[in-house]
Amino acid sequence: MIDVCSRESGSVLSIEDALDRIKAAIHPVNDTEKTANALGRVLAESVYSPINIPRDRNAAMDGYAFAGRDIVQGQAFTLSLAGTSWAGRPFQGQLQPGQCVRIFTGAVVPEQADSVIMQEQVQARGQSIHFPADTQALQNIREIGEDVKQGACLITQPKKLTAIDLGLLASAGIDRPIVKRQLKIAYFSTGDELTALGLPLESGKIYDSNRTLLSGLLADPCYDVVDLGVIPDDKQLLEDRFIEASLNYDVIITTGGASVGEADYVKEILHSCGEVNFWKIAIKPGKPLAFGKIGQCYFFGLPGNPVAVIVTFQQLVAPALRQLSGAPFAKPLRFIATCSSALKKSPGRQEYQRGILSQDEHGEFFVASAGKQGSHILSSMSRSGCYIILPKECNVVQAGDRVIVEPFSLLI
Ligand code: AMP
Ligand code: MG
Repeated sequence: MIDVCSRESGSVLSIEDALDRIKAAIHPVNDTEKTANALGRVLAESVYSPINIPRDRNAAMDGYAFAGRDIVQGQAFTLSLAGTSWAGRPFQGQLQPGQCVRIFTGAVVPEQADSVIMQEQVQARGQSIHFPADTQALQNIREIGEDVKQGACLITQPKKLTAIDLGLLASAGIDRPIVKRQLKIAYFSTGDELTALGLPLESGKIYDSNRTLLSGLLADPCYDVVDLGVIPDDKQLLEDRFIEASLNYDVIITTGGASVGEADYVKEILHSCGEVNFWKIAIKPGKPLAFGKIGQCYFFGLPGNPVAVIVTFQQLVAPALRQLSGAPFAKPLRFIATCSSALKKSPGRQEYQRGILSQDEHGEFFVASAGKQGSHILSSMSRSGCYIILPKECNVVQAGDRVIVEPFSLLI
């Protein structure tokens, strides 16, 4: 096969350079929509509150509302009960001097009252309520607009909306924020050896785990994802599928066929029908990764080995998709832990080894190797909970050394 990239064979990018190139190449989508299903979507227009929150002065406690003018300084005193203010059913009368109102949390405080005393601090005898000598004015009242003032910004765009954000919008009566449109993403696997799940496995074949992996990794409300199945190692079929998909999707993600074997057609095809921005990165696992564009469609040609798919997806594709979806950049959380295993490391590439993270009773973080590190070994990946990131220049890790870790749960 002609290696169309042989002229660039020296250009192995560092992960930082690859991320910079992705950042420079990707332009976020502009189209927006108004939706009631906004969880996890990217807010496209900042939201301002149409109301004060709270709308009314209300009680922060169950107790009695009264006016501070009725306090007898330094002495216990008695007020007469004028009625009740329930949450949702305010007291309708006027509070006269010498009177108080039974009140419950969230109920409107009568206009003439400026304080609420906790029910535990008074003694109620029929209509007479006895207040203690240390009663304070201006207590336990939630002021109008104390949380958010009318017209104030509730959430600034762009932001990936969380359950908490939607709760905040709901408190202002807003249920259909304006968000960026979903990305249309298609993925397919390549390889003559791949067998779909549900079929018996013949000699020489393997099950296609990558499409199942990608389906999970792409599970995000910002993405409208289509599985295009398995394409055999047939150059013409692959080319047709790439061209067709590029007309219908924002992003194509493929796995396999991206390295330099006889049947690895992906980057050759991408070179002939699109523009390849880069295809080799100095990371392990995951060296071959083709990134570029066919027409208006971005493509990511990921490696075939499942662990390399996960690493390249999480480290490169996920930030790229976030950027394309209009979401703000989210730097992955990394911190230092003491490595309790000795680790082997090949020189020249940044490695993402699979680790199991723990914390001792003093709060110190420890990480142990999750086992075999081959890029085809999915079982150790499944057992692990974090990457141990070993920079290019690191050659070996002894038990007790300090290493950089990146927990998985915060990645997706
Ligand atoms: P390739 O890049 O096509 O040479 O694939 C590299 C390795 O990944 C080979 O051992 C393939 O069999 C394996 N591989 C490729 N695609 C898949 C897939 N969809 N699921 C599981 N393993 C795969
Ligand atoms: Mg292959």
